[in-house]
Amino acid sequence: MQNPPHVVVVGSINMDLVVRCPSLPRPGETVLAADVQELPGGKGANQAVAASRMGGAVSMVGRVGDDAFGSQLVNHLRDQGVETSHVRVSSNKASGLAIVSVDDRGENSILVVPGANACVSEEDVWASQELIRNADVLLVQLEIPVQTVVAAVNIARQSGVKVVLDPAPCNGLLPEELQQADLICPNVSEAEVILNCEISDLASAESAAENLYERGFKRAVITLGENGALYTHKGASVHAKGFEVAAVDTTAAGDAFAGTLAVHWHGENDLGQAVAFANAAGALTAGRLGAQTAMPDAEEVQAMQRDGVLRDRWS
Ligand code: ADP
Repeated sequence: MQNPPHVVVVGSINMDLVVRCPSLPRPGETVLAADVQELPGGKGANQAVAASRMGGAVSMVGRVGDDAFGSQLVNHLRDQGVETSHVRVSSNKASGLAIVSVDDRGENSILVVPGANACVSEEDVWASQELIRNADVLLVQLEIPVQTVVAAVNIARQSGVKVVLDPAPCNGLLPEELQQADLICPNVSEAEVILNCEISDLASAESAAENLYERGFKRAVITLGENGALYTHKGASVHAKGFEVAAVDTTAAGDAFAGTLAVHWHGENDLGQAVAFANAAGALTAGRLGAQTAMPDAEEVQAMQRDGVLRDRWS
């Protein structure tokens, strides 16, 4: 890539503690677990790593706590090529933490402690305004306070910086200001919550994408898991089929998708191409264990585009 786009991610940074156990403990029960792994996660950090692996020049705005995980998380982002000078340390706060228990059948239960992510403030965003105004793309999610996301989107739009919004996690209506995003990329369940609708097939997904456009989102991309994604082009929806892959662990497939989209989407005419790249990145991530460790690089995505087989279940 000749001029790597500068992507600024304003979002969450977590440590995921993944505990493997024979069965998930019931209330009051103690279960001996086989092992525990510390894996860097959080949607913001995952998407920053995805965009960096894809060749973007990526800066992260966020917060960690003043605990041991905080420095590990920042060092890990740096090792992945993400610029971290705008990651602040909250004193007397724990870093964001997710405790993921997975049993022998693959069932899981997850506890999320937002920790320092809940402290990412509008003031933090204003302190990073020069960085945001000089970026090519602002990439945001909803794992930090929504008013902080709104402030970042406002600053970016004032300076003509493209905004990509992954509305995850989503548990209700989105603030109207977020409609300024140039592109919104929900998965099926997030699109269902935002629109209060049910998506069960290609036709209902198409009308959901068109509804997002009618609600004021200039462009929508709905990710459809193994069925790829749907994007809107001037209000009409287009299906981009997914790639055939033996799914091993779909954690962070959506994060790989969003980070890749942010790097490859430059303007109206290449959204279809960017979605195809993002489908390849999502499929490769679904085919491997882990979140950030599973994210492909640009060469792998190109190889998937060249040699991969498109899945034709929802067409
Ligand atoms: P999320 O991970 O946010 O729930 P999705 O499940 O829709 O989002 O996955 C995001 C993208 O990852 C999809 O649009 C698709 O490109 C890719 N993907 C996810 N699961 C699979 C799969 N089983 N096979 C192929 N591609 C997949």
